[in-house]
Amino acid sequence: MATDPRTAHALAQHAETARLLGVDFLPTRTRTARVQQQVEAKPEAVPGPTAEEPPVVDVRAHSPSDDERAVAQERLEELRARYEADAPHEVFETSFNSIVFGDGDPCARLMFVGEAPGAEEDKTGKPFVGRAGQLLNKMIEAMGLRREDVYIANVLKTRPPDNRTPTVEESMACAPYLFEQIGIVRPEVIVTLGAPASRLLLDSTEAMGKLRGRWAVFPPPGSLTVKADVPETAVMPTYHPAYLLRSYTPENRQKVWSDLRQAMERLGLA
Ligand code: URA
Repeated sequence: MATDPRTAHALAQHAETARLLGVDFLPTRTRTARVQQQVEAKPEAVPGPTAEEPPVVDVRAHSPSDDERAVAQERLEELRARYEADAPHEVFETSFNSIVFGDGDPCARLMFVGEAPGAEEDKTGKPFVGRAGQLLNKMIEAMGLRREDVYIANVLKTRPPDNRTPTVEESMACAPYLFEQIGIVRPEVIVTLGAPASRLLLDSTEAMGKLRGRWAVFPPPGSLTVKADVPETAVMPTYHPAYLLRSYTPENRQKVWSDLRQAMERLGLA
């Protein structure tokens, strides 16, 4: 069958992404077909939570309207203004140029939560634009999505000195703003990238090796620390792209891909 140059280019891109992520898969349906299917799909009755399978909650029966998007965007901007006025980062040591608040669709079905801005993010004011961000973009593309289809935020909104890992105290100081962000975006699935985001959202001290690849729920059952109005949301923890870049083994790439596939299945993208 003849393939037009744009389709050939898209297929080549997917093949390259698949190679980079260590998978041997090519999406078989176009994004448009998948989105159409999601819009037409009726919410299914889903059994109650189990350790492996949390409930599908807040299933969207329709795509958000332009008005709903505009309202969510405005609420995010108000939250950002409140963050800037409260300046929770002032309670800990940080030297930064930009507040990196978040980026993407304010009504996204899928949200990624990372750790903290790095040098590139601090320069540009956008999350995940450095090397780890480029890998994250490839992961998003491999899921059949575009970066602008998802929402991306971090636990910390300012760069920690020397790119060090945020402390628990720093994470807790900034957590209420992240929780409110989640409550505004109301994603169906959150993918947490790395230990600080996974531990914060799941209220856990477990290692990533234990947390990743297993469905969890945010807010964690019985949580007293989450004050924001957030519906129960399915969380899939996975390794941080920066860790993947440092430890670029077929096993790790396969694990991340398997975690993303689970998120795709939950969203009806696979
Ligand atoms: N790492 C993160 O966790 N977040 C960013 O925005 C960039 C790198």
